[in-house]
Amino acid sequence: MIKIKTLEEIELMRESALIVSKTLGMLAKEVKPGVTTLYLDKLAEEFIRDHQAIPGFLGLYDFPNTLCMSPNAQVVHGIPNDKPLKDGDIISIDCGALKNGFYGDHAYTFEVGNVHEETKKLLKVTKESLYKGIREFKVGNRVGDVGFAIQNHCEKHGYGIVRELVGHGLGREMHEDPEMPNYGRRGRGKKFTEGMVVAIEPMVNLGTHRINQLNDGWTILTKDGKPSAHFEHDVAIVNGKPELLSTFKYIYEALGIESDEEDEFKHSTL
Ligand code: MG
Ligand code: MG
Repeated sequence: MIKIKTLEEIELMRESALIVSKTLGMLAKEVKPGVTTLYLDKLAEEFIRDHQAIPGFLGLYDFPNTLCMSPNAQVVHGIPNDKPLKDGDIISIDCGALKNGFYGDHAYTFEVGNVHEETKKLLKVTKESLYKGIREFKVGNRVGDVGFAIQNHCEKHGYGIVRELVGHGLGREMHEDPEMPNYGRRGRGKKFTEGMVVAIEPMVNLGTHRINQLNDGWTILTKDGKPSAHFEHDVAIVNGKPELLSTFKYIYEALGIESDEEDEFKHSTL
């Protein structure tokens, strides 16, 4: 069942999402060669608790850490460890926070030092597909419209769309209805209505869409060992249109990146 949110609830969800956004912005300055994912995980846990929130993933389905940290061929759900990041790596950092009873959940794939051009393009196209998907999340459209937009953009570049893992409704639970696949057919699936909140999160592979799971029971990685990218935003439907609750602006401030990619999805009073 899809749980529709009131405007007051959406404001609380924005607060939770922004805690995650700020956490990712803090981490953006720390992601560099030589740093371990476990160190970054501890920084994130402290930062979230300092903001009077609870790490959203820690203990959820028994996940052992605050962040899902998935380098290179890992798609999602990687477990932080004491292996240092290397120059040329990419790393998806997925973070959740719980505050006022609502979850925020979003993710960004960072470049560590100098990344291969082919991989940089994968990141760029995957992030573009995220916004193409978000644009379709509006009253009257359906789940398949979002999936189609993401799939169409990524497959044009020859990339593989992961099938087994999908975006989701978000609220008092981390994973609510509806499921939001990153593939689909126009006009198919559940219809979007005012007050829906979802996490849209393309997981896109440079090569095959096929995946394996490590025997840690968590880590998902590409079957062919090629890199995978992952970007995730929290989005609400307000006045019929998609409105971003999360933002990459703190990451961009930290990295000195100029971007207007979020402008069309901003809160009308911001
Ligand atoms: Mg996430
Ligand atoms: Mg998610």
